[in-house]
Amino acid sequence: NNKFFVGGNWKSNGTKESIKDLVAGLNAADFDPKHVEVVVAPTFVHLDYVNSIIDKNKFAVSSQNIWIKGTGAFTGEIAAETLQDLGIHWVITGHSERRALCNETNDVVGLKTARALELGLNVIPCVGETLEQRQSGQIFSVLDAQMKALFDRQAFIAVKDWSKVVIAYEPVWAIGTGVVATPEQAQEVHAYLRKVLGNKLGAEVASSVRILYGGSVNDKNCEELAQKEDVDGFLVGGASLQAASFETIIKAH
Ligand code: 13P
Repeated sequence: NNKFFVGGNWKSNGTKESIKDLVAGLNAADFDPKHVEVVVAPTFVHLDYVNSIIDKNKFAVSSQNIWIKGTGAFTGEIAAETLQDLGIHWVITGHSERRALCNETNDVVGLKTARALELGLNVIPCVGETLEQRQSGQIFSVLDAQMKALFDRQAFIAVKDWSKVVIAYEPVWAIGTGVVATPEQAQEVHAYLRKVLGNKLGAEVASSVRILYGGSVNDKNCEELAQKEDVDGFLVGGASLQAASFETIIKAH
């Protein structure tokens, strides 16, 4: 049984005021960090603030993206080194919004994931198909290509501590739509992703890798999803902006 993992992806949301309230609510949440690992991902400009006020016994702070290279002449980008300097040890890579809206290819996601791992960051690579891809029977080939781009990089293959890599399955059709995957749909894909991991890492290692479900998770549907064998946690968007809903999801295991 893998340690349950819940991530809150705040996306491009929050003001200093709203974040102060949200973090106060999170700090008051009643859960045992021995049994669940919780990470929240504010915008870049809020990372340092959140990291300074959040209860680090219960939460870690993650960025939503990194640059493919180090610091230097890369206007507007944030390097892994800069995150480390701020005491940020997690990063989400390959979120579907970055893939779709910022033209991040599988190769770029592979590079970013490898870069994070090389610098010793913990990483949450995201994969998932669009509705069109699912309906046209391409789901597994799309997931294969997304996973292959990770394994194409030495740094991914060379991972020793798989507690530092958490795969998020986020079907694009479920993100922000209110159309959550059924527990059976999530389980089917999670089992498939574990098989893909197993082909490269062996079944035993693959069984230890946490695979999260993301897409319209809320305080009502989380429990049923969490009961599925290969669902090791959640990556939550909208519902992570409400402390009470997020607390319920944290406690869904
Ligand atoms: P929603 O929970 O708002 O559907 O977003 C999911 C997501 O994209 C998390 O990364």
